[in-house]
Amino acid sequence: MIQISIPECIRMVNGMKLIGPDGGMIRGVSIDSRKEQKGRLFVPLKGERFDAHEFVPQAIENGATAVLWQLDRPLPDGVRKDVTYIGVDDTLIALQQLAKAYRQMLSVTIIGVTGSNGKTSTKDMIAAVLKENHTVQKTEGNLNNHIGVPLTLLQLEKTTQYAVVEMGMSDIGEIRLLAEIAAPQMGVITNIGEAHLEQLGSRERIAQAKFELIECLTAKDTAILQGDEPLLRSLATHSEASVIWFGFTDGNDVRATDVQANGLKGSMFRVKGTDMRFRLPVPGRHQVSNALSAIAIGRLIGLSDEQIATGLANVTLTGMRFEVQPGRFGGQVINDAYNASPTSMRAALHTLAGITEADLKVAVLGDMLELGPDAARLHWEVGRLAGELGIDRLLIIGNHAADMRDGALAGGMTSESILARDSAADVIPILEEWLKEADHPVVLVKASRGMKLETVARALI
Ligand code: ATP
Ligand code: MG
Repeated sequence: MIQISIPECIRMVNGMKLIGPDGGMIRGVSIDSRKEQKGRLFVPLKGERFDAHEFVPQAIENGATAVLWQLDRPLPDGVRKDVTYIGVDDTLIALQQLAKAYRQMLSVTIIGVTGSNGKTSTKDMIAAVLKENHTVQKTEGNLNNHIGVPLTLLQLEKTTQYAVVEMGMSDIGEIRLLAEIAAPQMGVITNIGEAHLEQLGSRERIAQAKFELIECLTAKDTAILQGDEPLLRSLATHSEASVIWFGFTDGNDVRATDVQANGLKGSMFRVKGTDMRFRLPVPGRHQVSNALSAIAIGRLIGLSDEQIATGLANVTLTGMRFEVQPGRFGGQVINDAYNASPTSMRAALHTLAGITEADLKVAVLGDMLELGPDAARLHWEVGRLAGELGIDRLLIIGNHAADMRDGALAGGMTSESILARDSAADVIPILEEWLKEADHPVVLVKASRGMKLETVARALI
């Protein structure tokens, strides 16, 4: 993690010393006063509900060596003189500047990962592959925004060779900001979906927003792009960086063939041009696509296919994304309640439908949020797909339950197999009745984060 002197820190954030010692070192940065502070620089951010300037005394109590202080706040009486207060115009911007300046002190190669779906999964896979032969750090959990990316960079050690940094966004300009801070030498776009359609208005604009990552690359850098997505193909004509395409169709540089889905055990596949078989212990064809980007990067930096295959076979993903656990009523429960958009719903339903060992396939689906004026149609389409794929039972929860139900009926499901509810209250006994009918039921639980369907998943596990 970052380790610099206090004067260096003051220079890097364009700040001024307000009070406290001139010298000394800081090691690490924290924004949460409840967490370990020893030797750290505490950065008080202003959130929607709190202004963390209030927690500065707590951070100091817990060992912080220095704190940033936004100059429009009056310095309270009786501050401790053994801690350096560094005045800045804006603590968030200062955090970002510090991360950017620190990144420039490092010789690490940074791999930025964005896309509508699969960023976290892909980040975990790339790190798993690179770990075979290098020192690697990656975004912890899902810390992918204008605060999480700087914090990730400030965690990097001087000796780390590769850093895999997840970059999320909900509007134009956000990825550009993150890419300017992180200055990646490789950029991955996993896919273009419909998440954030409400803010951005069209899939074209979503693609442009993701592509800001690639626009920040130079001619020495490499873009690793999902080549089955026509929007990325057309945007890439403007890319300065060299491009490696990955996907399932002709014209991809790293192309999956012979994809064999083994239900919940994951997939086996080959890559065109070699005999090597890759095993991916994560279910879903969409995860094979993510793995291809990790293969592309592994090859680019000179790993053998054997090394790459070993890395992929050992990957473990960050929690609550397609987490498979034994069910309380037999069979298995797939907890994918972390998030949902039309693309990831489709991917999850396809995976559920492909689980041959299941004798009852149940989907518990909730609303996908932030879809804008097309929300009703997009929910209807997810319902229809569930019907077409032969999902046995559907329990739908939320404001769009009726839309999804109508879609499922259009997709061939019978009305007895569908239950639509506006909330998740009291659904467990119903599910229990359904699950009792089967020897090996598999239940998929998926919705947008705000629907909190993980409570349903937990009650089934
Ligand atoms: P977030 O925006 O919440 O950070 P993310 O982009 O990091 O999401 P993951 O957490 O990896 O994505 O996966 C989220 C969901 O998307 C999961 O349900 C997963 O199964 C699905 N998913 C992963 N990769 C893809 C893909 N390439 N295409 C479609 N769906 C995918
Ligand atoms: Mg993520």
